[in-house]
This record gives sequence, C-alpha cells and structure tokens, in this order.
Amino acid sequence: MMAELRLLISPEEIATRVAELGEEISRDHSGHPLVLVGILKGAFIFMADLCRAIKIPHEIDFVRLASYGSGTTSGEITITKDIELPVAGKEVIVVEDIIDTGRTLLYLEDVIKLHRPAVVKRCCLIDKPERRQVDIFIDYVGFHVPRGFLVGYGLDYAERYRHLPGIYEVLGV
Ligand code: 5GP
Ligand code: MG
Ligand code: MG
Repeated sequence: MMAELRLLISPEEIATRVAELGEEISRDHSGHPLVLVGILKGAFIFMADLCRAIKIPHEIDFVRLASYGSGTTSGEITITKDIELPVAGKEVIVVEDIIDTGRTLLYLEDVIKLHRPAVVKRCCLIDKPERRQVDIFIDYVGFHVPRGFLVGYGLDYAERYRHLPGIYEVLGV
C-alpha cells in the first residue's frame, strides 16, 4: 500500500541550501585537513551534493550504524562499518541526514574521537528537535523541521522513497 506523502522541501530549495552550506563549510575551514564522514545509508545523497558544494580539497568516508528498535525510532546503536581513512589531526565533519533524539550522533562521535581528530563538527540536512534527548550544538543545519516522519533525498520509510528528489512528510505515521 502506498503511504500518503506531502511535499515539505522542494529539490530547488534543497539545492539552494546545500550550496550555502558548502560555502559556509569552505569559509569556516580550520586549516586542518578536512574529512567528511557520512552516515549510511540516509546521508548518501546529501553527502554527494554537499561535497560538490565544498570548494576546498577534502576526503570522504562513510560509516554505517545499525539501530535495533522499531522501524521509525532509534534503539540500541552499534557500528557495522567504521571509518577507514586515518583522521588523526584532521577536521572531521560528520554528515547526517536527520538529527532527531541526538543519540546516533553522540554515539558516533565517541567512536570517531578514539581516532584523535583535531576538530569534530556536525552537519545535518534536517534538525528535528521535537524528540531531542541530549543538548547538542549543530554547526551546520540545512533545514529545521519541527516534527513528522520525513522521506526522500536519501531518507527512507522501510527502505522506500530514498530516490525521491524532494523531502516529504509521511502522513499517518
Ligand atoms: P537520532 O538522532 O534519534 O539518534 O537518530 C536519528 C536517525 O534516525 C536519523 O539519522 C535517521 O536515520 C532516523 N530518523 C529520525 N527521524 C527520521 C525521519 O523523520 N525520517 C527518516 N527516514 N529517518 C529518521
Ligand atoms: Mg541517519
Ligand atoms: Mg532509516
């Protein structure tokens, strides 16, 4: 059965905002070698667009996290693919699709810090603060969305809808 979707953010709005984020990241750069670390799978499309909007040289890596819980919430988090590039002494920007409770990000940062980076920053496409459980500052935010379950532009609902070019709210979740 098809879920009912409502368009929240158009592909044009996403492109404009991602270009701005790329400029901000390029301008703010600390001088340490820059590495973007994307969280699979949700951030793959955002990462692909963001890295092309960053005008300074940088490296790209991905991590994959698994969370055991129900389909739409985060339960116990484990890492199933760690970073592979050396990040010691580098500036790491964690690229996340959505920050919801904030637990995924804090878990991942503990793992990344074991590799002794110089700086760790946070970048998310969507800041969804309604269910936040931890007090975290997000350096780069694409959009603030107060609530709702979102899909498209890499985000899934039971592995569907990642390919949609805009961001939609799933109605009735
Ligand atoms: P949290 O910040 O709660 O630890 O976890 C956030 C993760 O849960 C996100 O990276 C994303 O993978 C998933 N998530 C949270 N809210 C949504 C949403 O509205 N839509 C989708 N597709 N995933 C979400
Ligand atoms: Mg995610
Ligand atoms: Mg998911």
